Amino acid sequence: MQREICHVEISDEALCCNSTEVNFSRSSDKPPSQSNLNFSALMLYGGGKPADFLSQLAVGITYIFVNLLFFLMVYTGKTYRYRSVLFITIAICFVITFITNLIELRGSMVLTKENMISGETPFCHLVIPMVIIPAAITRTIIFPGSITEGFAPVSAMIVIWLGASLALGRGWCSWVCFFGGMDEFFSAVTEFAEITSFKILIQAIIFFSLFAGLVVILPFLTRRRIQCGLFCPFAAFQSFTNKINVFSVHIDREKCIGCGRCIQNCPTFSLDETSTWQGKTLMSCAKCGRCVDTCPKQAVSFHIKGTPAGAGGDAARLLFLFPAFLFAVTIGGSMISGALVRLFKFITTGSMI
Ligand code: SF4
Ligand code: SF4
Repeated sequence: MQREICHVEISDEALCCNSTEVNFSRSSDKPPSQSNLNFSALMLYGGGKPADFLSQLAVGITYIFVNLLFFLMVYTGKTYRYRSVLFITIAICFVITFITNLIELRGSMVLTKENMISGETPFCHLVIPMVIIPAAITRTIIFPGSITEGFAPVSAMIVIWLGASLALGRGWCSWVCFFGGMDEFFSAVTEFAEITSFKILIQAIIFFSLFAGLVVILPFLTRRRIQCGLFCPFAAFQSFTNKINVFSVHIDREKCIGCGRCIQNCPTFSLDETSTWQGKTLMSCAKCGRCVDTCPKQAVSFHIKGTPAGAGGDAARLLFLFPAFLFAVTIGGSMISGALVRLFKFITTGSMI
C-alpha cells in the first residue's frame, strides 16, 4: 500500500495515554522531514563550507544519499532495509576514514605511549561503562583520552551517547554504533612491525580469531549479530537505557499468529516465545525494525511507552525515525563524506593520504 505521508501533525492529546488521535496530512509547503534535511546539512558541513571541490562533492553526495535513505524509510515503511544500508555504509566508511585520518595525522595507526600519556587517544563509546562507573565512584577518568579536545574527545562522545541513549535507548546499537572494536582490531593486528615477541603474536592471533569468529564467520553463518547480541559489553550496558527511553517495540497479541518469524529474524536474540506472548521484546532490543518489517500480520510495531498499543498508526515509528536518523548522521555523516574524499583522492592521485 502506498503511503501518503509528507507531513506529520501530532496533537498534544495524541500523545496522552487515552487518545489515539494522530493526524497525517499532505502539505505542499512543508516537505517531508524538512528539519532532517536542514539538520543533516548542518552536521555534514560541520559549521563551515568544505574547502575544496572534492570535499564539496563528497558532502553533496553524502547529503543526497543519507536523506534518500531516510525518505525511503519513511515512504516505504521498510525501516530495517534502509537503516541497514545506512548502518553498514557508516561502518565501512568509518574504517576508511578512521585509518586514513590516523595515518595522515601520525604517520601510523599505532598509538604510542606518548599518545596515551598526552591523551591523544580517540575515545570509543565501548569504554563508556568502564569510564562512567569509576568516574561516579572515585571521580577518576581512567581512559587515556582527551577530555575536551582533539580527535573524538571524551566529553563529546559522552554527550552524544547520553543524548542518543535518552532518545533511542539501545537503538544506539542499530543506528549509531560504528563498532569501535574495529579500530582496536586494526590497530592491534595490521601493524605487524609491532609484533615483537611470541607473546604478542599469540595475543594478536587470539584477537584476530575472536574478531573473525564473532564479527565475520558466525554472523555470516547464522545471519545474527553474534558480537552485538551476545558478547559486546557496551551492548549489555546499553540495554539498561531501554528502560528510560520512551520508544519500544510492541507485539499485538490479537494479530499475532505465533509463526515465530520475528523470533527467527531478530539479529540480537531479543525475542523469544515468552516475550512474544507477552507482547514485548526483551530488554536487549536494539530497535533495528527487522521484526516490524518481517511480521506477515503487521503485528509488530514501534511504540511509545504509555500510549495505547497501535495508537496513531505509524506515528510512533516516524517519531522514532527522526532522532534515530539524526544521531546516525551526527556520528556517521562525516565518516561517509570523509571516506568519499579519500576514495576521490585515490582515484585522482593513486593515494588516499
Ligand atoms: S512474526 Fe508476527 S505473527 Fe509471527 S510470531 Fe512474530 S508477531 Fe506473531
Ligand atoms: S526485537 Fe525487533 S527491533 Fe528489536 S532487535 Fe530484534 S528484530 Fe530488531
